[in-house]
Amino acid sequence: MRIFCIGKNYSEHIREIGWEETGEPVIFMKPHSSLVAPGTPVHIPAHGDELHHEVEVVIEIGKEGKNISSAEALSFISALGLGLDLTLRDVQRSQKEKRLPWELAKSFDQSAPLGTLIPYSSDIDLSSISFECEVNGKTRQRGNTKDMLFPVPIIIERLSKIWQLLPGDLIFTGTPAGVGQLRSGDKVSIQSKILGEYFWELID
Ligand code: ZN
Repeated sequence: MRIFCIGKNYSEHIREIGWEETGEPVIFMKPHSSLVAPGTPVHIPAHGDELHHEVEVVIEIGKEGKNISSAEALSFISALGLGLDLTLRDVQRSQKEKRLPWELAKSFDQSAPLGTLIPYSSDIDLSSISFECEVNGKTRQRGNTKDMLFPVPIIIERLSKIWQLLPGDLIFTGTPAGVGQLRSGDKVSIQSKILGEYFWELID
C-alpha cells in the first residue's frame, strides 16, 4: 500500500503560497508510518518551525490497474475519506530553494492524519464534495472538489501511467486555500457532510 499525494491542485492555494500553476500537478509520497488514526495525539516535529494543516479529500484504490483512462477511473475507487497533509512549510521552502526533494517537509512520522474511510458508490458526486478544516473551533480552510485543477479521474489516469495502482493505495488529492500554522495544544478538526468529522490534538 502506498500513499500518493497531489500538490498544486487548487488555484487559490497555489497563489497563497506564492507559487505558479505549471499545468502539471506535483506528485509526492508519504510512508505508511505517516498515518494517524482519528483522536490519536499528533506530535509536532522538532526539525521545523512552521507546521501547516492541509485538509484534503482522500481516495482509496480498490483494484489493480495500470494505464487507467479517466473514463474508467471511478470504477477503481473503493472508498473515500478526509485527511490532513501536514507540512513543515519552512522546511518545504528551504528544500525548494535548494532544489531538494520534499520528504523532510511532508513525509515525517504522523504527517498524514486520516479519518474513517467510507465506501464509494456512484451516487457520490466526487466533483462536488465540500469540506473544511477548523482549528480551535475557527474555520481555517473551506474547499470543494469542484475547484480541483486536476479532478480525481485525471489524477488516477496520471498516476496509473507511472505506477501500477494496487488495492489499498491512498491518494491525497490536494488542499484548498487557507493553510496555516498549528501549535502545541491546538485542536484541529476536519469535516465534510458526506465524509464525517474527525479531530486531532497537537502536542510537543
Ligand atoms: Zn497537500
